[in-house]
Amino acid sequence: MSTLLVENIGELLLPTDRELAVVNGASVLIVDGKVVFAGLAAQTPTAPHCARLDAEGRLVSPALCDPHAHLVFAGSRAHEFDLRNQGKSYLEIQAAGGGILSTVKATRAASDGELADGLRQRLDRLLLGGVTLAESKSGYDLTPEGELRLLRILSASTHPVSLAPTFLFHVPDPSLAPKQRQPWIDTLLEALTQAAHHKLCHAVDVYCDEGAFTLDETRRILTAGKSLGLLLRVHAEQFTHTGAADLAAELGARSVEHLEQLGPNTPARLAAAGTVCNLLPGAALTLRLPWPDARRMLDAGCRVALGTDCNPGSSLTESQTLMMSLATTMMRMTAAEAWLGVTRHAAHALAADEAGHLAPGARGDVVLWDATDHREIPQHLGASPAHTVVVAGRIVVANHQRVTR
Ligand code: ZN
Repeated sequence: MSTLLVENIGELLLPTDRELAVVNGASVLIVDGKVVFAGLAAQTPTAPHCARLDAEGRLVSPALCDPHAHLVFAGSRAHEFDLRNQGKSYLEIQAAGGGILSTVKATRAASDGELADGLRQRLDRLLLGGVTLAESKSGYDLTPEGELRLLRILSASTHPVSLAPTFLFHVPDPSLAPKQRQPWIDTLLEALTQAAHHKLCHAVDVYCDEGAFTLDETRRILTAGKSLGLLLRVHAEQFTHTGAADLAAELGARSVEHLEQLGPNTPARLAAAGTVCNLLPGAALTLRLPWPDARRMLDAGCRVALGTDCNPGSSLTESQTLMMSLATTMMRMTAAEAWLGVTRHAAHALAADEAGHLAPGARGDVVLWDATDHREIPQHLGASPAHTVVVAGRIVVANHQRVTR
């Protein structure tokens, strides 16, 4: 039996589905990888022969979750980033070899080892930022075999950051003639069935927008995913308003992503359906989109989560603390709402009941931060304040460094 007592905590954050509780002068007891107690130090059960981790008065939280990321790809789109910042149009960027399809080309050409190596580097950066559970989507191959290959690479990962893999219908393969489009979707649906049967994915996601999948196609794909028992997600209302977020609510989707162009009655529908709003401030920043109207969703009673949307084109970041900074400054979320967005609500978007909180039975994943007040984390722009990261009761990052075991 392994026991870890995290003691001498200044502020301890205890997120629930409804609020962020803050306890001062606390400790956390983790036995065999699971939280047994998290609360006032004076009430801690006695634990003989336990390992002790002195928080030295630091802020301590459950480890963060990232509910939306594209972590397996090859190639760089730095050139495109620079062109976009000079005001070049999407078509000019495409003509210069940029866009999703340049990533598709590089990903198809990369070996399994190269893709796994890129994935590991991104997971390392997530971990050093305090994340121990991340979603990751396929979607950069566009062929049935290729998409399954990306999901296999995700499922083979042994990194301390756990992965929640999603089969993404990203964009229609542009090499197809219009009459080949439906048969191509059929072959991807066959791959989705295989992926579900082999437990290579837990969710299906569709990019519904101009230039991506239509609303009818999105309904067809999500309905197929639902019959396979998968969680449903939709990239919705990013560039144009398509009605995809309302479709997500109608089908009981687990999460809906982006939401820069939100319809008037959509927040109430999403709240009633219990669909998590995964807001992605990194993409809004990089693409200069309007900021998602987080306040309207929160006021309607929606669960609002924050994700990195880590991807090579529109949001190249693994920093959930930076997302908290953008959410508080640009989207007017409170610090407490931002914390809930990267802990409990993000875990809920991934259907990970054991993550994103510290109630008894939760996985023993905690972060000790270089801060004493939880509001310092969103306030401190671009910092890497995760001092120590514990995964299932084991220290995997100490003093900002990955501990190799
Ligand atoms: Zn995305």
